[in-house]
Amino acid sequence: MSSLLVDNIGELVTNGVGEGPLGIRRKAAVLIEEGRVAWVGPAAYAPAADRRIDAGGAAVLPGFVDSHAHLVFAGDRAAEFAARMAGERYTGGGIRTTVGATRAATDDELRATVRRLRGEALRQGTTTIEIKSGYGLNVADEARSLRIATETSSETTFLGAHVVPPEYADRPDDYVGLVCGPMLAAAAPYAKWIDVFCERGAFDVDHARAILACGQAAGLGVRLHANQLGPGPGVQLGVELGAASVDHCTHLSDADIDALAGTAHSDGSGTSTVATLLPGAEFSTRSPYPDARRLLDAGVTVALATDCNPGSSYTSSMPFCIALAVREMRMTPAEALWAATAGGARALRRDDVGVLIPGARADLVVLDAPSYLHLAYRPGVPLIHQVIRNGVPQ
Ligand SMILES: [Zn+2]
Repeated sequence: MSSLLVDNIGELVTNGVGEGPLGIRRKAAVLIEEGRVAWVGPAAYAPAADRRIDAGGAAVLPGFVDSHAHLVFAGDRAAEFAARMAGERYTGGGIRTTVGATRAATDDELRATVRRLRGEALRQGTTTIEIKSGYGLNVADEARSLRIATETSSETTFLGAHVVPPEYADRPDDYVGLVCGPMLAAAAPYAKWIDVFCERGAFDVDHARAILACGQAAGLGVRLHANQLGPGPGVQLGVELGAASVDHCTHLSDADIDALAGTAHSDGSGTSTVATLLPGAEFSTRSPYPDARRLLDAGVTVALATDCNPGSSYTSSMPFCIALAVREMRMTPAEALWAATAGGARALRRDDVGVLIPGARADLVVLDAPSYLHLAYRPGVPLIHQVIRNGVPQ
């Protein structure tokens, strides 16, 4: 059994036992065996190991958990972005542009895009990433999108209900029937989760409830895109169905916040439905940001994710999202880092990632900085010095 010691860590964020909400330890070391964290403690007492990485007094964090990304697509929408920055409003209609390009792409073209973006995310410290379908929108293309996604991640999500495709524009009920019937049957073997874009112009609450219920009956966990472009019933539908996460949460009523807070676990460990905030989308659509402070103050568990997609948020950078969350959403640097690591893990109902405690998966990020604070303090700067995933230096 080969072991690896990450030694001489100036500031270790564990999200476990230690100083403050991030469980920080100073002058620490982490022993890794067989892809897992085997020991965490003071560097002065570090056990011997076969190999050693000297962190040089820098900060070490759990790898980022990006719980919301759309990586299976073809083409880009740079021109749409430019038009938006010149004053056009975002409506979600451009999704259909990507659907056309995705259907026309070969498997290898889609696979190359997923791998490129996965590599890009990994270099920026993301060690767990959720991947959605949603640009195929027919039986064959949704199933192949998910099949390709499973080559890269075990956190795959069936999003056949992203928008109603053009060929069903006049008969959305028939499309919902297709999603719940043959499309779900073809997608379910490759999916852990089901998701719906519950929004005006996409799927209304009755359609969303029907689709998510079918997914649950097929054994998939529930998450959904809710309350992004305006107020709506999505968040409360998510709570009703026991969703792991409701994502976007940009336009929330007091009743929405109360519903989320009402899913709190009795042991004080947060809410069972997580509010996942995606500030890259507000940045890229020049829209008002969600009010993270209001959620946090109500005791709601908050995650941060990229929403990486070619239309409304073409970034794979969790450090960028952390910086936005701190600057624009009134999160403290500690809250933002927790949300981007342990919060993302909660949104995926995982307890083996997002933390650096014995038994956890050995996913570590060594920063080129003395403290995690630099992620927001030095925005846009490449601070990821080294990434270790499953105990393997990348
Ligand atoms: Zn999304």
